[in-house]
Amino acid sequence: MAMMITEDCTACGVCVDECDENNAISEGDPIFKIDPNLCTECVPYDDSPRCVEVCPVDCIVEDPNHKETKEELEAKYNKIHS
Ligand code: SF4
Ligand code: SF4
Repeated sequence: MAMMITEDCTACGVCVDECDENNAISEGDPIFKIDPNLCTECVPYDDSPRCVEVCPVDCIVEDPNHKETKEELEAKYNKIHS
């Protein structure tokens, strides 16, 4: 499942550097956004979504429109980095 940023985002930018592996987070207007084609929930390189850990307002949640298994997330990661 990809992650998504809700409207509670304050556009602080802290999460961007945490996604340096997949570069899925970018600045939007007015809130930041996550590209579901690039977010692998940090699978397979971390145990949990790094961006969620650092967001000061807890506005990064699972995206119900992009449900994926761990195997699908691994395949996405391999495709991104192939
Ligand atoms: S969960 Fe991981 S891959 Fe997805 S946006 Fe957050 S840091 Fe990037
Ligand atoms: S860390 Fe949270 S509040 Fe800051 S830009 Fe990212 S999603 Fe928005």
